[in-house]
Amino acid sequence: MDTLQMRTRAIHAGDALDSRVDPVAPPLDMANSYLVDADTGFSAEDLDVAPPFIYSRWRNPTVCRLEARLAALEDAEGALCFSSGVAAITGLFTHLLGAGDHLVMSNVAYAGVVEYTYDILPRMGVAVTHVDTSDLEAVANALRPSTKLVHIETPCNPILRLSDIKAIARLAHACGAVVSVDSTFATPCATKPLMLGADFVLHSLTKYLGGHGDALGGVLAGKAETIEVIRQTVGVHAGGVLSPFNAWLILRGMATLPLRMQAHSESASKIAALLADHPHVTKMIFPGHPSHPQYALAERQMAMPSGMVTFQVPDGPAMARQLHQRLKLFAYAVSLGDVRSLIFYIDTQSIMESTFHLQGADLEAYRDVAGEGIFRISVGLEDPDDLCADLAEALA
Ligand code: PLP
Repeated sequence: MDTLQMRTRAIHAGDALDSRVDPVAPPLDMANSYLVDADTGFSAEDLDVAPPFIYSRWRNPTVCRLEARLAALEDAEGALCFSSGVAAITGLFTHLLGAGDHLVMSNVAYAGVVEYTYDILPRMGVAVTHVDTSDLEAVANALRPSTKLVHIETPCNPILRLSDIKAIARLAHACGAVVSVDSTFATPCATKPLMLGADFVLHSLTKYLGGHGDALGGVLAGKAETIEVIRQTVGVHAGGVLSPFNAWLILRGMATLPLRMQAHSESASKIAALLADHPHVTKMIFPGHPSHPQYALAERQMAMPSGMVTFQVPDGPAMARQLHQRLKLFAYAVSLGDVRSLIFYIDTQSIMESTFHLQGADLEAYRDVAGEGIFRISVGLEDPDDLCADLAEALA
């Protein structure tokens, strides 16, 4: 180094240190590219099954460490991380669906994904049938010979409706279709979709898995061979992969996932009990409460209820303003799965117009749970007694 000039030192000094360190905590590897053998091919098409690290859009050590951890939590053979939950879901759609194919899709799910299935997929020649996937007869009736995928979200955003993964997998497989489950609300601590027969499980890592409200990310897990094909076709070629820094943050968050989920679930149970008995609340929905319309399925399919609770009051917009003004511990904000408690009001008419477009019996079924609008609470990790007191005072 002594013989080299300033510009060279600025780039190379200290490099040798790396080979001598062996950190206990996961290191953050931000490199875009890696030293490779002279005969390494230039195209992702040349990659082996277990290629060396070459370029971080293909594979990155920090992201791979996260993928291995996620696969282990879901009992999956393989996992592939994306830049967001939406990128993971649309990545799976891109891989599986082309012109002439048919998708059966939960008619209530994360808004961005539902909008994609109305606005983008039909432009690509993909037919989509939106059904209430809590109704197995509706799912069976929607299946066609061209159905390639049934995509469900359970519990679903925002109304916490459940879908029976085992029964839907049986129906779909009998028709030659595969099943993907967005398990963001449940997390692997509550539900293991692959163990129940699903072919793919997806998460927004932005929510409970990361858990601290500071990193967007997504994951798709399933059979190793398929995941590696999707890595090449969608990860490498479409490019919406996870940044190593976000992978590092999410790895750190995931170390406490089981402990956090236990606490989220216990606190949400206390909030649900408060809301169930509150004189201003006309309906409360929580998978861990016997009043949930699918409580038996929740007991069967979820090892814990997770931290999401919804409720209705007679005048939602007025209460939204009141809560916005009075709540001290709940942030009035979208998203979920944060250590902080979050609350948001979702107006039924406006989400119908922008996103769900439900009519007839499907609209009635939504209104049954959500009325003119619902408050969605993501119960955080503050002391549950403090949260209950804050909510009770703000609702009074
Ligand atoms: N899936 C569910 C169930 C969600 O609630 C969300 C976002 O709220 C997403 C997917 C999208 O995740 P991201 O914001 O990480 O793209």
